[in-house]
Formats: sequence, C-alpha cells, structure tokens
Amino acid sequence: MASLSRALRVATTCPRKRPAQGLRLQPLASVAGPTTEKNVPYQRTLKEEAQGPSTAARGPSQPLPRTADVVVIGGGSLGCQTLYHLAKLGVSGAVLLERERLTSGTTWHTAGLLWQLRPSDVEVELLAHTRRVVSRELEKETGLHTGWIQNGGLFIASNRQRLDEYKRLMSLGKAYGVESHVLSPAETKALYPLMNVDDLYGTLYVPQDGTMDPAGTCTTLVRAAAARGAQVIENCPVTGIRVRTDDFGVRRVAAVETQHGSIQTPCVVNCAGVWASTVGRMAGVKVPLVAMHHAYVVTERIEGIQNMPNVRDHDASVYLRLQGDALSVGGYECNPVFWEEVSDKFAFGLFDLDWDVFSQHIEGAINRVPVLERTGIKSTVCGPESFTPDHKPLMGEAPELRGFFLGCGFNSAGMMLGGGCGQELAHWIIHGRPEKDMYGYDIELLEQGCVFQERHGWERPGWFSPQGTAPVPDYDYYGAYGNQVHQDCAYTRLLGDEYTFEFPPHHCVIQKECLTCREAAAVFNMSYFGKFYLLGLDASKAADWLFSADVSRPPGSTVYTCMLNQRGGTESDLTVSRLAPGPEAGPLAPAFEGDGYYLAVGGAAAQHNWSHISTVLQDQKFRCRLIDSSEDLGMISIQGPASRAILQEVLDADLSNSAFPFSTHQLVRAAGHLVRAMRLSFVGELGWELHIPRASCVPVYRAVMTAGAKHGLVNAGYRAIDSLSIEKGYRHWHADLRSDDSPLEAGLAFTCKLKSCVPFLGREALEKQREAGLRRRLVSLTVEEKVPMFGLEAIWRNGQVVGHVRRADFGFTVDKTIAYGYIQNPSGGPVSLDFVKSGDYALERMGITYAAQVHLKSPFDPDNKRVRGIY
Ligand SMILES: Cc1cc2nc3c(=O)[nH]c(=O)nc-3n(C[C@H](O)[C@H](O)[C@H](O)COP(=O)(O)OP(=O)(O)OC[C@H]3O[C@@H](n4cnc5c(N)ncnc54)[C@H](O)[C@@H]3O)c2cc1C
Repeated sequence: MASLSRALRVATTCPRKRPAQGLRLQPLASVAGPTTEKNVPYQRTLKEEAQGPSTAARGPSQPLPRTADVVVIGGGSLGCQTLYHLAKLGVSGAVLLERERLTSGTTWHTAGLLWQLRPSDVEVELLAHTRRVVSRELEKETGLHTGWIQNGGLFIASNRQRLDEYKRLMSLGKAYGVESHVLSPAETKALYPLMNVDDLYGTLYVPQDGTMDPAGTCTTLVRAAAARGAQVIENCPVTGIRVRTDDFGVRRVAAVETQHGSIQTPCVVNCAGVWASTVGRMAGVKVPLVAMHHAYVVTERIEGIQNMPNVRDHDASVYLRLQGDALSVGGYECNPVFWEEVSDKFAFGLFDLDWDVFSQHIEGAINRVPVLERTGIKSTVCGPESFTPDHKPLMGEAPELRGFFLGCGFNSAGMMLGGGCGQELAHWIIHGRPEKDMYGYDIELLEQGCVFQERHGWERPGWFSPQGTAPVPDYDYYGAYGNQVHQDCAYTRLLGDEYTFEFPPHHCVIQKECLTCREAAAVFNMSYFGKFYLLGLDASKAADWLFSADVSRPPGSTVYTCMLNQRGGTESDLTVSRLAPGPEAGPLAPAFEGDGYYLAVGGAAAQHNWSHISTVLQDQKFRCRLIDSSEDLGMISIQGPASRAILQEVLDADLSNSAFPFSTHQLVRAAGHLVRAMRLSFVGELGWELHIPRASCVPVYRAVMTAGAKHGLVNAGYRAIDSLSIEKGYRHWHADLRSDDSPLEAGLAFTCKLKSCVPFLGREALEKQREAGLRRRLVSLTVEEKVPMFGLEAIWRNGQVVGHVRRADFGFTVDKTIAYGYIQNPSGGPVSLDFVKSGDYALERMGITYAAQVHLKSPFDPDNKRVRGIY
C-alpha cells in the first residue's frame, strides 16, 4: 500500500509530464488518461442502484409531462437544491431531468466540506442557509437524516496576515451568530493532538462547521420536493432547448427536448455542472466556465483522528477532511489538469490521479499532520469540477435568452453553497429577482506611474506611483505549464506589499492624491463606466417606470437616481441625462424619435444594469431602444476647486454657476473636439465629467493636463475616489448599496419621487416599508484611533452587535477611518433616527473594539457647499 510520503518520492523522481508547447494562450491540454471507475470511500452511493443497462436502454424513470412550470436540468447538488426550494416556495409544476442517475456528475464524489465563515457577508448568509437545510430543515420535513456530521472546522494561520484575516472573520461571525474562536498554537494542539503546531501563528475554530453527505443530501432533497408536487425523471438526457421569438422580438425559452419527447416550459434552469456549457450551447447561451480535474486521496485508518474537525490550510493550499477514522487529503493546484473534451458519457466516473500534479499537496499535508507520512492511501478520488474566471458561481437569467437560468460554475464549493444558491435561484425564478444581492489611453497613464488594479473584473487605475512605471506583465501561471515566473517585477511587488490588513505602503501617495483634489484639482480616468442610450417613442414612459427619481426634466438636465426591483431593493444607482433631439448621429448624440436619455453607470455594474433595463423594457413592452456606447466613449472627470479655472481654458463654454449649473450637461468643444460635459461630482467637489468619443480621448486628456499644470492638477486613481467619496457619504453600489437594500434604508429617500403620484418600479414596496417603519438603516461611523478598516467589522451599539460594516476607508480630509454599515434594533423594532443617535457605538476589528462616533450627515462638507462651487 502506498503511503503519502512514498507517493511524494515517486512523484518527485519520475520525469515530469509537460503539456504541449505554445499553450499559454490556448486552453491547456489535459494530461489525464482515460477515465476509470474507482473504489470510492462511501458506504453507499446512488451508483449502487444505478448498475444495469445503459441509460438509453433503460429509458426515463417515469413518463415525461407535456408541460412544466420550470424544468431543472441536472440532478446534482444544485439541481436538487433548486428543485426543493422551488417546491418549497410554492411551484408545484417543477420537473428535474437528469441524464443518468441523481448525483452521477460531480456531486457523488464531493468531499462535502462546509465552512461557515468566508470573507463575504453574502456568502456567509448562503452557507448558513445550506447548513440550516441539511442539519435541521430536511430532517424535520422528511424524518430522514441527510448524513450531516457536525465535526467542526479549523482554519490554519501560518503567517500573521492569515491570522489577521481569521480574526476579521471571527468579528464578522458575531454579526451573524456564527460561533468561532481564535486559538493559540497550544490551544490548537489540545483540540487536535495529531497536529503539528510548531509553525503556526494560530487557528480559527468554528465548532458548528461540518461535513455534508452527497447521496443523503440529494435523496432527502428530492424526497421533500416530490412530496410538494415536484417530479424527478432520471435516465433522460436533455438534447435541445426550443426557443421562440415573441411579438416584440424577444427570445424566450419554449420547450426542452429529450430523446423521449419534449416538455413545453417557459423556464429552464441549467444546473448541469461541467456540462452546463453544452446545455448552454443548445440554447445559444454562452456559459463561461472551464472543467478541471479536482482530487483528494483517502488514507487508511489513523489512530486518534476520530471526531477531529476538518482542516483548511489556506497557505499550504490543502484541506484535511475527517472520513470516519481516516482523512481525505485534497488541495488546489496552480497547474490543474484541464478537461477539454467534456464527455457526455461520463457518469459516476473518475479520472486517474495525476500524482505529478497532486504531489504538491503532500508536503503541506504531512507538515500539518505528521502521522500522514506513515499512513497508507486507501483510494484516490479525482473528478471533474467547473471553475469560473472570478471564482464566483454563474447565477441568474441569461441576458441572451429570457427564461433560461444558470446555476453552475461552483468552483469546488457547490455542496456548501448549494442550499443558499438553490434558494436564491428559486426566488429569482418566482419573483424575478434573488432575495440577496447576487451580483462583482492606458499607455498614457502608465507612463505617469499608474498602478492598475482589478475591481470587479475591470482593470482600473489604482493610484499613481511616484517611483515610476509599473507595467502589468503577462500572466505567468506561477511558472506552471512551462512558463517562466516573473523575476523582480515592480507591478507584482507593489501589489504584494498590499497583502496586509494594515495601511498600505502607498497610503501617503493616496493621501496626496486626495488632498490635492480637495485643495486644487485631480483628474480621474473613468472610461470603464457603462454608457447607454435609452431612446424612442416610449422612452419617457420607460424612464418614469425604471428610475426612482424624477428624470422628466428639460433636456440639459442630469439626475442622480436609483433603479429598484419589485421588492424596493436597489438594483443600481446612476446618472440620467435628458437629451435634446438633434440632427447629428454619432457616439455623443445618436438620432432618435420621441425622447432620449443618456445613462452613465458604474463599470463594474454595467452588464447588470443592461440586463435589468432590458428585462424591464421587455416585460413592460415599451417601444424603445437601449444602445450600449461604452466602447465608443471614454470619460475623464476633473474635480476640485481649481477645476473651473482649468477647464475654462480647454472648453469653449461658459462654466459659471449661472451658465453651467450643478446637475446639468452640455455638448461643448474641448481643445477642438466635441465632448459631452456634465457638471457632477462623486467626490464632493466642484467638477465636470467629460464624455469623449474614443478617438478624441488622448488629445482631450493632454489638453486638460497641460492647462492644469499651473493649477497643480494631478492624476488620481480609484483608491482616492473610494476615500474621497466615503467622506462625502456617496454610496458605492455593491458595497454599501445593494439589491437587497432599499433607498430608504440607505438614506437615499431623496432619489425617490414618492411625493409625486407617478408609479415606478419598487414604489409599492417602498411605501409599505415607510409605513411599517425601517427595520434597518445605513449609518456612518468614524473612529478616532488611526486604525485601518476594510469592511466586515462588527458594529456594536450599547454592548450588543447590531450589524457589520459594509464599506470602510480612511478619510484624509477628516483624518479618520470612516465606516458605513446597516444596523438593526436587537429588540426587532424599528430603527428610528432617535435610535441611531441615542447609542454608544464601537467597531470590532480582529477581536478588538474601537470607540466610534455615529453621524446622520456625511462627515465632510455636510451642507454640500463645495459641489455648488462655494468654498
Ligand atoms: C474532488 C472534489 C471535492 C470537492 N469537495 C467539495 C467540498 O468539500 N465542499 C463543497 O462544497 N464542494 C466540493 N466540491 C465541489 C462540489 O462537489 C461541486 O461544486 C458540486 O457537486 C457541483 O454540483 P452541480 O449540481 O453543479 O454539478 P453535478 O453534480 O455535476 O451535476 C450536474 C448533473 O447534470 C447532469 N447533466 C449533464 N448534462 C445533462 C443533460 N444534457 N441532461 C440532463 N442532465 C444532464 C449530469 O449527469 C449531472 O448529474 C468538490 C468537487 C470535487 C471534484
């Protein structure tokens, strides 16, 4: 019997397999052999029942209905959870179609680990729901045990930053009632005697974490769903999705086709795991995921391991899962094996483990639990799993096809996220939205020291380094697949220096950008913004319905507004500029009939905004066009007391308060180029945005910089925007404002035309909320002590945790850390302004509390003078 240490020796002495040359930009070649059936470590799997003739020969496990309200494709963790939650939320006509047998894809061989604490409040809520379902709800409903084992979870910190991260999670856990303890190495040893703690800084212990059983969970889920009228049909591969185009030209799902007949349905949920791309192609929907091999090995019996918690060592990239009286050892490689030719014959299958790839986990595992060195390996489990570019699942209705929902791409967390995500999908299908927020001229700037950073999938100027350029190098795959690891790369070094929960090393650089903006002026490149036109005969009707604020002002006006969902949650905040009809047709002013509006939305949320608006236009059958001009227009924003003097030299327009008031826009010439200038600010200063046709971006930018030189104009990045905007209390959608927050809760009642009688999407929900009294409210808190905060800290009021911080940053003008978070009344009552004012507050960061002061207005310029040019 091989032991882990022998496996490591063999792997390191064998010649390494190398993928073919020239793979850097191509999908990476699989080095796996053929799939093989393995002896898996479960006492019982659904596979046992699946023995017998082939799928085609067996035929469907029951006759297909002619119609269904919803068809769920795939009987793994996600399909079963979605079906259960649909049934539970009252959909009786839901049908699940599984190609083979339930769990036969990835789910049957999952490790089933469930951790409750993750560095995202939404994920913490999703995980809590899965845990509730598998540990309590299903058993109560069916009388069956799902196989849930609550053996606890232990996160390992082998450096200070990691321990800091865990301390942050512990503070967040308090806001959600998740018990957790930061343990010293000695306490960890007492809890887990077989663990090596010599190199540990500490651990995070979560006693109510545990392990899910895939077969038990899925069987119980479908049993409970069937009891509520849902139908599960196995041995029934979906072979096609029929699509119809309605009278308004909108593509909609019409039916699902199988070898055994078709089912008419308006709604399909693609829960087909690694096969989701294939199912997507049947409907003409692109599903951006890749299939990879993911593996663990199961050891022989280990004396003394019984009842130990599961272990996750993030720095060693390994996990150790309790498997009765043995361990499963798995991890995440930097050179995973891709499964390029995803086979539709693969069921209850596994791949041969590539020891060459897996061996990198062995050292880390043996270091953590040394007895593993002498322990034999009973079996290997290497199966397919799907991964997405941002490591978040693909959820929700596909923008290309109405009625086609995705529930796939689970990045090795589809068991633990299954319950939470299944519930959100069901909610999305039934109510049109999920309950929670499920959402995430460069060379010119580079030469000026711009350090680009990623934000929600977009590359954006972070800050401007005085030490010179820091070009972004090509991805080096950590040296895998025959690539060279970059040596001493300025860009990597600058970003690496930020991996801390302290103030970053370039804190002073960001401070200078912020203070110069407040004292002189700064220019921000915001070309990543989404820029849409809403045009047509019904554009005004559509704008009235879509936007919470009154945008029916004369052409030339610009209005900051929210877009809401039916539940009154905020889908977006944006600016809407009413256009005058003109003869010109071009990126700045397209020709239109009826009315026209120009919408500027945050870049990270552009796709989300597009989908929301398109869906509403289709549902309401408004006769208008939505045009995406994001790629055709750039945008720079010049902000600060000197902005008027600078721009007056560049623009051919009068920029005085009377000729160009706040919240208006004009087509003007900048250094001879036609641009749309908008007097607006997202940092609380006098300033203008210039929306510029692509070809004119560089000359306009240069003209602004030249004119600004004598006024002290500087470049600034989004890190400065974050700091400046938090001082002014401007919301960041997806941080302190999300689709599960109403504008009333977020202090944005001024964006809602509730005093008018104009109906708008979400109005009824807001009115009800206002009548009942707010149960939560966004508050602003400042901390005297100079301590960095990043969000997720716990908010204490009068000795009780009443919420957590959604967004925090350092405000350089007020010289304090500023935090925003929603608070609740522990008695369950309303959160009135008196309730907010009357408390004593503190913020808990990594287990330490800091006294905090609450504010009802923004901490900086509470009377909004500066945007009006009053200095
Ligand atoms: C080794 C390993 C360990 C893991 N450990 C964990 C863990 O500890 N914790 C955790 O949370 N997650 C873990 N995961 C990940 C987790 O198991 C997966 O994310 C999850 O099981 C995926 O479930 P799914 O329903 O999306 O996909 P699947 O389970 O693959 O289900 C998709 C189903 O769709 C069916 N299907 C495909 N095409 C069609 C068609 N045309 N018609 C009808 N049906 C079709 C397939 O037969 C399959 O049954 C692990 C994964 C692996 C590989």
